[in-house]
Amino acid sequence: MGIERSNPVGGPGAGLGAGLPGARRLLAGGDAALAGVGGDAALAGVGGDAIGLKERLRAWAHECGFSQIGISGIDLASAEPGLAAWLQAGFHGEMGYMARHGLKRARPAQLVPGTVSVISARMDYLPRGPAADAPGDASSGDAAGGPPRWARHEMARLARPEEAVVSLYARGRDYHKVLRQRLQQLADRLAAQVGPFGHRVFTDSAPVLEVELAVRAGLGWRGKHTLALSRDAGSLFFLGEIFVDLALPADLPGEAHLPSAPGLLAGPRSDSPTGRPPPLSPVGLSAGHCGTCSACLTACPTGAIVAPYRLDARRCISYLTIELHGSIPPALRPAIGNRIYGCDDCQLVCPWNKYARLSALPDFDARAGLGDGTTLLALWAWDEPEFLRRTEGSAIRRIGYARWRRNVAVALGNAVRASAAATAAERAAIMAALAAGRDAADDLVREHIDWALAQADAPR
Ligand code: SF4
Ligand code: SF4
Repeated sequence: MGIERSNPVGGPGAGLGAGLPGARRLLAGGDAALAGVGGDAALAGVGGDAIGLKERLRAWAHECGFSQIGISGIDLASAEPGLAAWLQAGFHGEMGYMARHGLKRARPAQLVPGTVSVISARMDYLPRGPAADAPGDASSGDAAGGPPRWARHEMARLARPEEAVVSLYARGRDYHKVLRQRLQQLADRLAAQVGPFGHRVFTDSAPVLEVELAVRAGLGWRGKHTLALSRDAGSLFFLGEIFVDLALPADLPGEAHLPSAPGLLAGPRSDSPTGRPPPLSPVGLSAGHCGTCSACLTACPTGAIVAPYRLDARRCISYLTIELHGSIPPALRPAIGNRIYGCDDCQLVCPWNKYARLSALPDFDARAGLGDGTTLLALWAWDEPEFLRRTEGSAIRRIGYARWRRNVAVALGNAVRASAAATAAERAAIMAALAAGRDAADDLVREHIDWALAQADAPR
C-alpha cells in the first residue's frame, strides 16, 4: 500500500477540478464563513442548512461509490513536527518528492490557496472473488477467531513460493483514475447544489497528508502500521480528498485523534508517483483502537515498522517493489518472498480487517494474470508488449517493465531457494527461465537475475 498509506503513491500532479482561482468563494456568510469551519451560518445562502447539505453530500458520495465521507478543517499544525522528524530521519528513502514538498503537505492552503475545508472520502477495495467472504461479518474469521477467509487465502498464497502475489489494491484498475473521476462527480453534484466553488480533487496525487485529514474528518484512526483504520471497514480502502473554498461544517475527529508527539514517526502513504505507496507516516497520531495489539509489527517481513506508528519506508516491501528505481538491497531480497508488487502482510494480520469490505465496484476485481493462480514463471514469460497490454489502466504499469522484471527475478530467486517443497523439475524450469532472460536484460535486471540464480546455492 503507499506512503501516506491508505492510498497509493501519486505523482506530483494534482487533482482535477475547477481549481481555486483567486480562490475564495464568498458565501452568504461573507468572510466570517471563511474564518474557520462554520456551522449552519457558514452555509446559509448556499442552498439550505448545513446538516441537510451534509446529508445530501453523504448520499451523493454513496452514489459515486464511496463508503464514507467526512469533513475537516485544514489545521494540520500538530502533524508538522512528526513529518519534519520523519523526513529528517531519511525514512522516505528515494522518495525525493516527499522532501521537496516539505511541510507543504501539512498545509493544505499552501497547496491550494483558498482552501478552508477538506472533504475526505473512503472507497473500499477488497477485490470481489471466490476467496472473499462476507466482509463486515465478524463471524467470517475461523473457529478460533482468527483472520477471515480471504486473509487466510492470501497467507496461503504467500506460502507457495512459485506463485506471484500482487498487493490486493493493485489487481484491478488504477485507483487513481477511479477515485479522481468519482471525486470530481461528487464535486459536480455539490456545485449543482450550491453554485460554482473553488476546489481540487486529490487521490494520492499531490503532497497531501491523507491519513491525517481522514482522521480529523472522523473516518478512523491511524493504526500502528501507519495506515488509516476504521472500526467498520478495517484498512482496505483508498482515500481521496476534495479541497474546497467553502467553509463546510466539520465532523468530529476520529476517536483517538491526538496531537502529534514529536519523534513519533510514521510515513505518509501517499504521494508517490507510482502505486500504492508503502506505509510511512510522518505524523504521530496514536491510541485509537489498536490497544495492546502489535500483530503488524511482528508480521512485517522486513521489520519496516520500527516502532508503533513509525515506519522506515526504506525497508518496506511496498517501497522496494514500487518506489525504488534501482537495485533492491540484497539483504532485504529474501524477505520479499513471492511479493512482486506491494505487500499486504501488516493488513492481513490486523484484527480489524475482519471488518474489511468488498469493493462496491467491479473496477478493483483482479485481472486475469494478476490474481489467484498466477505463477511467477507465467509472468516472467511476458515480454514488454505483453506487460504493457496486460497492465493498461493498471497502477502496475507505472513502474515500467524493467522494475517489473527486477521484482519477478527476485521472487524467482526466492522460489529457487525455498524449493525444498518444489520438485527438481520445477526448480530446473525456474533456473532455465532465469538464465534465458539474462542476455536481453538491462544491467539492473541482469544483476537481479544473477542474484536469483545464485540462490540455488544459498543456505535455506
Ligand atoms: S508488512 Fe511491512 S513490508 Fe509489508 S507493507 Fe506492511 S510495513 Fe511494508
Ligand atoms: S495489527 Fe494490531 S497494532 Fe497493527 S494496526 Fe492492526 S490493530 Fe493496530
